[in-house]
Amino acid sequence: MTDLSDLIRQRIAEDGPLSLADFMGIALTHADGGYYITRDPFGVAGDFTTAPEVSQMFGELIGLWSAVTWQSMGGPDPVRVVELGPGRGTLMADLLRAAHAVPAFARAIRPHLVEISPTLRAAQEQALGAAGPDHAPTWHTALGEVPLGPSIIIANEFFDALPVRQFERTEEGWRERLVDSDPAGGFCVTLSRKEVARLGPAPEGSVQEICPEGNETAAAIGRRLAAFGGVALIIDYGHEETALGDTLQAVRDHAFAPVLEAPGEADLTAHVDFEALANAAQVAGARAYGPVPQGHFLMALGLAERTRALLDAADARQREDIAAAQHRLAHPDEMGLLFKVLALGAPDLPTPAGFEGA
Ligand code: SAH
Repeated sequence: MTDLSDLIRQRIAEDGPLSLADFMGIALTHADGGYYITRDPFGVAGDFTTAPEVSQMFGELIGLWSAVTWQSMGGPDPVRVVELGPGRGTLMADLLRAAHAVPAFARAIRPHLVEISPTLRAAQEQALGAAGPDHAPTWHTALGEVPLGPSIIIANEFFDALPVRQFERTEEGWRERLVDSDPAGGFCVTLSRKEVARLGPAPEGSVQEICPEGNETAAAIGRRLAAFGGVALIIDYGHEETALGDTLQAVRDHAFAPVLEAPGEADLTAHVDFEALANAAQVAGARAYGPVPQGHFLMALGLAERTRALLDAADARQREDIAAAQHRLAHPDEMGLLFKVLALGAPDLPTPAGFEGA
């Protein structure tokens, strides 16, 4: 058991059971011992791998997409390129390198990183060192702190880390699932005594997840894009339409673990509800495109051509890695279908590249 377990137990003793969202928020981002605060969880030695860590092609293609998007915005200078939850900073470093294909875009870019973890901020600073003084990033703890203006916003595997609440349909209506201390010294799920939300009809035992912080963030993105121009790309795993089900999961050392077992020691994520995010952004004045499967999106952006160009310049061992990376990113049995890409845009802009016909 971790120190965070003690802290959560004390909170429950004082205030009663916590919502799952409060539990998840503490476990992931509490300043003393939150999962993301204390470690770099990515890669072979960590708990999981993400697309930008699989291959430089991912960030490079998003960099080229950003350049085309910027041109469609009328080439504003400066343009904020904002990344939410940049992890090791790999995607932004690859994006900035690729952006030099369009020098006027490269000159206009002001990178802004929204990151809550001091450990990962340090990793990002190191990754972006090579980007040079013109692309020195500014860090923020929330999107609301990023200066207003035309922007391109990228979020890869950010929304799945935002805390979710869960509601369960009982014979007496919808009850919230709460976290309580159990006598054995661990945590267990209990139900709120009163109905706390009015949700639609569903069979008894159904679970409905809601991500209030995700929906608020999508609304804030929508307002910003509608007022100042720009496009956002949200890449994550999840469902296209709002659906019932408990998707909260814990991953530790590349394996699933019990969700409530060791707060601060395991990564907690939930499927992203793309329909809810798109709705929130549309209500705020933006347009939504997709979501399209990640594999389709990357192929539309030229993943196959980029792979071929890298293969031509590679030795035998590198060739194997490059081919494996393309497979991992785009194949339907790997990340190609599970991960989806949603675009949000200012209403006066054309359909973003990769979303034609979506
Ligand atoms: N985009 C990266 C990392 C994904 S992990 C990649 O694809 O590799 C989630 C990232 O979001 C981490 O950098 C984590 O520290 C950050 N994060 C999680 N919750 C956050 C919050 N509430 N505010 C800001 N950053 C957060």
